[in-house]
Amino acid sequence: MAKRKAPVKKNEEITLTFEDLTHEGNGVGKIDGYPLFVPYALPGEKAVVKVVKVNKNYGFGKLIEVKEPSSNRVEPPCDVFYKCGGCQIQHMSYEMQLKMKQKQVKNVMHKIAHLSDVPVHPTIGMEDPWRYRNKGALPVGEKDGELITGFYRMRSHDIISDMETCVVQDEVNDRMVEAVRRIANRFGITSYDEKKDKGTLRHIMVRTGRKTSEVMIILVTRTEKLPHQKEIVKELTETYPNIKSIIHNINNRRTNVIMGNKTKVIWGEPYIYDTIGDIRFAISAKSFYQINPYQTEKLYEKALEYAEITKDDIVIDAYCGIGTISLFMAQQAKKVYGVEVVPEAVEDGKKNATLNNMTNAEFFVGEAEKIMPWWKKQGLQPDVIVVDPPRKGCDEKLLQAMIDMEPKRIVYVSCNPSTLARDLRILEDGGFQTKEIQPVDMFPQTMHIECVSQLVKKM
Ligand code: SAH
Repeated sequence: MAKRKAPVKKNEEITLTFEDLTHEGNGVGKIDGYPLFVPYALPGEKAVVKVVKVNKNYGFGKLIEVKEPSSNRVEPPCDVFYKCGGCQIQHMSYEMQLKMKQKQVKNVMHKIAHLSDVPVHPTIGMEDPWRYRNKGALPVGEKDGELITGFYRMRSHDIISDMETCVVQDEVNDRMVEAVRRIANRFGITSYDEKKDKGTLRHIMVRTGRKTSEVMIILVTRTEKLPHQKEIVKELTETYPNIKSIIHNINNRRTNVIMGNKTKVIWGEPYIYDTIGDIRFAISAKSFYQINPYQTEKLYEKALEYAEITKDDIVIDAYCGIGTISLFMAQQAKKVYGVEVVPEAVEDGKKNATLNNMTNAEFFVGEAEKIMPWWKKQGLQPDVIVVDPPRKGCDEKLLQAMIDMEPKRIVYVSCNPSTLARDLRILEDGGFQTKEIQPVDMFPQTMHIECVSQLVKKM
């Protein structure tokens, strides 16, 4: 058989029509069946593209000029959209974003889970899909002797120095990062230099409670000491009364991970509060908390609806974080058991149960894949199991424990449709039926997709 050659050469300029979109948000156009992936190209568009990389079975291109724009192409409001790695699809109408996300979920259900008939509902979107993030963590650098903060340029660790605002970030967070940087700069704090592994301030993190407007500031340094700590704290807290907590975290390792192991409260409380529905939550620096509070409420309501809890039901909430879903379920259930691997989050969970006068939720520290089989051995028989794992999905041992426990229903909350589809296949083979899937847009302007799905035990 003749060896197939790529039909394009590097640096060649071609005109291409786009048909599809990858899960990274790249447009896909084909030349004699050979796919070229092009950032910022939209399906339905015709554009001039420069070929930048040629592999055997696919290549990459750069968008040079859109000849026939899609009716869904919009002007991105962010000045640095085309440099920043944070958002991928600000150039796409919101309506198309929602449709595209639903389609992507349908696709993986078909291809990975072999579940072509399961209803995947239209994505639940936001009315105003901007300024939704309640948390920001910005790397700190220096330019012309001044501290700068900004996200990294795509696929690099160069800070975008002309980023003035982030349009998906809560305005309070934007302002607070700016304030901390300005004050730190005045006291001569140096930024951490990744290449030389020198300097002080690595990241400025801010978390805001949307309903309470309480602010937590986390300063991540390489050094044990934060120079001028007293003065910095004084100035921040005297100027900004919403600040309720200032945390100093030390990260002296050469790593991409933002926070290190040592965390000190240097002012105020170790947590801030926020409210979802009727429940109040304390959130500490190291605990996971959903970043889009507007959509979280819709997500949890859907999870609760899918759980169909009655007052005699026993519920397990695996990967429970600070117990948000657990306490939502505990409003209706007889008893909820939560399990979570981060000890600080479990402490928050216990505190949150007390805070809301709930006595029917109990929280355990540990790996869900170890605790669940142990619970099974102890004879725990849940009516409903809720799981909400990180991107990599559920551990196989956990899936097996769920199958062995034979709950009436499973509610699977997922931030990664591919691993969701993989796990649904295993649960289907283990005796459950996927009834429906609801995508919820927790991350507008990005390619990330959140889903809630309901499974029932097959009779
Ligand atoms: N349901 C919560 C948290 C979901 S995020 C909410 O909606 O807020 C996923 C959580 O799983 C994180 O808190 C993370 O710390 C936790 N986690 C990760 N691996 C785990 C494991 N093996 N066992 C238990 N929890 C785990």
